[in-house]
Amino acid sequence: MYNSISMTRMASSIAYAMGAEAPRQADPAIPLVTDMVDEVLNGGKADRVLIYNPDCIGLWMYQKYTEDLAPVLHATQLALPIATVAPSWTPVCFGSMYTGVSPDVHGIKGYVKPVITVDSLFDSLPRSGKKVALVTVAKSSMAMVYLNREIDYYIEEYDDAVTEKALELIQKDQYDLIVVYNQEYDDMIHRTQPESPEAMAAFHHHIDAFDRLTKCVKANWADHDTMVVWASDHGNHMNDQDHGAHGEDCPRDINVMHYYGIYPKKHP
Ligand SMILES: [Zn+2]
Repeated sequence: MYNSISMTRMASSIAYAMGAEAPRQADPAIPLVTDMVDEVLNGGKADRVLIYNPDCIGLWMYQKYTEDLAPVLHATQLALPIATVAPSWTPVCFGSMYTGVSPDVHGIKGYVKPVITVDSLFDSLPRSGKKVALVTVAKSSMAMVYLNREIDYYIEEYDDAVTEKALELIQKDQYDLIVVYNQEYDDMIHRTQPESPEAMAAFHHHIDAFDRLTKCVKANWADHDTMVVWASDHGNHMNDQDHGAHGEDCPRDINVMHYYGIYPKKHP
């Protein structure tokens, strides 16, 4: 069974929440998200958005380790089962997440990381006057496929430095959207297995990073209507060699969960 809402509808949902232009070819926004924005912000828009992208965490992890995810559940109000695109490789999936189009349209259909030329959220938001920061790990898909946009890139050595930089940027409060990418869990499942001690430690590092980021948002963005999003790119499964893997068209790879939270401003 595959989740019914496609990853390709996230970009328009974020654009709607920010009152900004969506990527030109993007699939339509998700009404569950746009309705929540309308209701919680009384018809207003989010003037600050934080998106956290932990790599490789599938729906089955949320089913099996639900209580571990308490900080994510408590920081958000909407949990959405999402179907990522196939083949479920990292650059393919992030290519669809931020352009809102299928791999056939954005052009990445395997584990390659060319710069995407199709219109993306990193193009449409600057056109709408929004300031965007992309904080990511060097050589990762997110550090490569969205280069050459009118946004600020913060390319760090690994997850810890990415999270620290994002915390610093939240405190400085100079961006309308901050996108934060972490990859340790994906690295560990390939090196070991999806539920190895190393992979589970990485899973908890991602939950802890989101907890710190959302607490920092609450402390520093109280004067803003803010949205926070947890969005993984794909899931994973155990392959015949007893290693973690993904890239296949199977429910464990395709089904993910995305979480949305809205914090209305405290000092209008
Ligand atoms: Zn990935």
